[in-house]
Amino acid sequence: VNTTGKPDISREKSAELYAKAQTYFPGGVNSPVRAFKSVYGTPLFIQKGDGSHIWDADGNEFIDFCCSWGPLILGHNNAKVREKVIEVMQNGMSFGAPTALENELAELILKNNKFIEKIRFVSSGTEAVMSAIRLARGYTKRDKILKFEGCYHGHADALLVKAGSGLVTFGETSSAGVPKSVADETIVVALNDKEALAKAFEEFKDQIAAVIIEPVPANNGLLLQEKEYLQYLRDICTQNGTMLIFDEVISGFRVGFEGAAGYYQIKPDIITYGKIIGGGMPVGAYGSSAAIMSNISPEGSVYQAGTLSGNPVAMGAGIAQLSELLRIGFYRDLNNKTEEFVEAIQRFATARNYKFKVFGIGSIFWFAFTDKEYIRKAEDIDASSMEKFKKFHRELLNRGIYLGPSGYEVGFISSAHTKIDLEKTKRAIFDSLDLVFN
Ligand code: PLP
Repeated sequence: VNTTGKPDISREKSAELYAKAQTYFPGGVNSPVRAFKSVYGTPLFIQKGDGSHIWDADGNEFIDFCCSWGPLILGHNNAKVREKVIEVMQNGMSFGAPTALENELAELILKNNKFIEKIRFVSSGTEAVMSAIRLARGYTKRDKILKFEGCYHGHADALLVKAGSGLVTFGETSSAGVPKSVADETIVVALNDKEALAKAFEEFKDQIAAVIIEPVPANNGLLLQEKEYLQYLRDICTQNGTMLIFDEVISGFRVGFEGAAGYYQIKPDIITYGKIIGGGMPVGAYGSSAAIMSNISPEGSVYQAGTLSGNPVAMGAGIAQLSELLRIGFYRDLNNKTEEFVEAIQRFATARNYKFKVFGIGSIFWFAFTDKEYIRKAEDIDASSMEKFKKFHRELLNRGIYLGPSGYEVGFISSAHTKIDLEKTKRAIFDSLDLVFN
């Protein structure tokens, strides 16, 4: 029973749909976090989105801060993106042959990103990362990869690996079905720990093909790294002939058009993209120098392909969305808006002595129930604080605010979020915090 004065939203239709979905899909969903396992209630089935707002099957309206987990930097149902998609679709949906639209999207990206010279389009972030890892292994002729505890890179076998105990560990699989032999090729270390990194390079000298990192780790809270640490990572990779992969599936086109590479002015060897690049359609990509990309088939010996890669409709959505991002002042306005939002909430929480921090970068934010000044590694997140998030999430839903259904997930602000939206959201957050903490 909710005792907070606001009635729980009605979920009759969503609950009915969920019951049905459970007869079709494992856990009733097609991606696990959607099942609302970490928060109250059953998943909301979304019927439509427009701008910053979404509506569920019961007619509840929310201001949305999940934004499809990041892709919708212009908000839902953006007119330019929609019109371009419809225009492209008039000519058919897929050919499995080259189209001019692929050139157009590639040109938009490569002309405005000094960190890559060639790109290959795929259909998801997972696929982009898998391909980047294969490229790094093919290029260096080494097998091991190194990842960080608390970074997520999609569900490829080699990356569904978590740290064991100790400073440097062979990975342990974090999913059933990942062979131990595969996990053994993945080394896992903590973020923000130079010593662990140096030790790994010592222990596995000349064996590490690639280090992969989310330069803005945003899948396990927002574990912002210092530039100096990322620079150290760049340097140690260079010294050891190891490729540095920036997984920019979230940060790419989000913290700036050039993503985290541009934000920190650090040049990785390979960059992976997803989410925003497809304007809400399924697109991923990886890019690098022309020389390194020449190792990809049919030019080189690293095989990678896709029936729907470079799909024209998806390319159209990407072209329309990225064109908007290149308008002068786009990121300045979006980032300023986010900063004001984050600071206002932090001021409120600090004034009331709540153990609550809002971390932010670009238009990404994360609510953490902590009194730590910084959280830079996974182990510094207090798992028991997630109980507070659970209550917070429920109160916000009851007040028309939709956050991703887990305290480990970040939120996103789009250019469609208005001042009025953010004012309403702040008030809802203040009320909800008062309830969570009192
Ligand atoms: N890499 C990062 C940093 C991600 O955040 C994600 C997804 O959230 C992925 C890779 C996997 O992308 P996808 O879900 O499109 O396969």
